Amino acid sequence: MQAVQNITIVGGGTAGWLTALMLHTRLNWTRQGPPVQVALIESPNIPIIGVGEGCLPGIMAEFQRIGLDEQEFIRRCNATFKFGVNFVNWNLTEDGKPGTFVHPVSYGDRWLGGISPLYYYLAHGAHGGHDPHNAAASLDPIVEAIRLNRAPRASPEDAYKGDFFRYAYHFDATKLAEYLRETGTRRGITHVLDDVDNAIVGDGEIISHLILRQRGAIPVELVIDCTGFRGTIISKILNEPFQSYSNNLLCDRAVPIQIPYRENEPIESSTSATALSAGWVWRIPLFNRIGTGYVYSSQHRSDDEAIRELCQYLGLDPEGVEPRVIQMRVGRLRRAWVGNCIAVGLSGGFIEPLEATAIMSIAVTAFQITHHFPDKSMPETLRQRFNKRIDTLYNNVRDFILMHYYLANRPEPFWRAARDPSVLTDSLLENLEVWRYRLPEPEDLGQPNIFTDASYAVCLASKGFFRGQKLFMETRAARQHWDHYFAALERRRARMRALPSARDFLAKMRREQPVAA
Ligand SMILES: Cc1cc2nc3c(=O)[nH]c(=O)nc-3n(C[C@H](O)[C@H](O)[C@H](O)COP(=O)(O)OP(=O)(O)OC[C@H]3O[C@@H](n4cnc5c(N)ncnc54)[C@H](O)[C@@H]3O)c2cc1C
Repeated sequence: MQAVQNITIVGGGTAGWLTALMLHTRLNWTRQGPPVQVALIESPNIPIIGVGEGCLPGIMAEFQRIGLDEQEFIRRCNATFKFGVNFVNWNLTEDGKPGTFVHPVSYGDRWLGGISPLYYYLAHGAHGGHDPHNAAASLDPIVEAIRLNRAPRASPEDAYKGDFFRYAYHFDATKLAEYLRETGTRRGITHVLDDVDNAIVGDGEIISHLILRQRGAIPVELVIDCTGFRGTIISKILNEPFQSYSNNLLCDRAVPIQIPYRENEPIESSTSATALSAGWVWRIPLFNRIGTGYVYSSQHRSDDEAIRELCQYLGLDPEGVEPRVIQMRVGRLRRAWVGNCIAVGLSGGFIEPLEATAIMSIAVTAFQITHHFPDKSMPETLRQRFNKRIDTLYNNVRDFILMHYYLANRPEPFWRAARDPSVLTDSLLENLEVWRYRLPEPEDLGQPNIFTDASYAVCLASKGFFRGQKLFMETRAARQHWDHYFAALERRRARMRALPSARDFLAKMRREQPVAA
């Protein structure tokens, strides 16, 4: 066996630097044998995409593993806390009114009397005046922390442990890439500023050299393509076909706009995804500003119409903004690993921004690389197994995002097209049929998967999927268990209410004067 000693990463966005740090850390963890060297080549001419400001829980644990500190990350990247996503106006209630529900990033409780607490919710309804169209409000105390824009713990002096409840972050994407780059170069990752223009490809699609504009040909052993939507190496040089998900997911454009906080406006601890006529608008609160953007279907709205609709929604004059329109390539490569080249990040696949899955997918892919780390022969069976896992990862994310659209019930042409049966995948169709009889279970979902059965269940319930039917286990959900549970949840909600505001907490953490909110 000839060990791979050198990894060459092309691309200096979040995918490039996060992958570089994860591989550098995880492959050299035990300090046994010669260290694996990591070099990152980044074009000085092509900027990073610079969007992608939300993430999922789990990322801080990974950040800690690569040696990042929560406080420094928050300060450097203007980060805020994310406890969940508010889905606004995706589903109309029975009387036609727009509804809002939360998809929390925590799991809530898994068991009550041996079955999911959700069976009790379905059997007995919302508790104590909570919104009946927002299942999480009755099931997960984190919704109280979201409602009140709270911080995740009492004191910023306490270190991150992730144990009170799970949470994620919003952050400035460009600053995160800079922070990762600084950390990476400090750790000994070689940073090369140059453009990769071509490659020398031999038998078995093995790249022996990358051709750089300034430096000429450099030898490579394992190449990680993190060149964003361009897919410079894997798509353009190795010609790996792209498998579009456009039959399932209709949104293919995004137009981001950043807006300032109004005076005394609180910093929210959640992302909002508000449905508009041909897609949805994100609202991501950072410490210093708010990121927004309209994700829409170009079949249903021209770019100008979308910009006008977004500006109208935000109360902005369209003449006063110069938004850039981003074309999103939604889908994944047929194979993420071809020859000795592995695609990570936007070059490998992208679903769309709903639920902010891309950075987590980067972390999962980098983790899978360490588990499938090859020798120089690039074994075919190893590659196949890796590729199967990455297919599953993307297909699972696609199904979860598709569920949100397919089960929305808005009347506009876009929303009707988004729930046409032709958009369904076989896997989601089969699961939805099973879930008419019981709640989702972990075994229904392949691995790796970013979303749990609990995430599906709480969203399905809020979207009215179970309305008008009785699941067998509901008949086993005793009222007195539910009432007792409500009392316990109320105590946990009181703990949430006692937490400081996110704005004060973050200001203290950044050692700034708290701003009145
Ligand atoms: C509208 C939108 C919203 C999003 N929101 C979220 C979100 O909320 N959460 C989330 O997790 N993700 C989100 N994403 C995805 C997220 O932005 C990306 O996954 C993330 O930024 C990683 O991008 P990347 O590193 O793959 O590509 P990029 O940031 O595009 O980086 C590509 C890099 O490759 C380099 N490069 C390109 N060609 C060459 C070459 N020939 N030679 C050398 N270098 C080269 C460039 O210089 C650059 O450094 C969003 C994406 C979009 C489009």
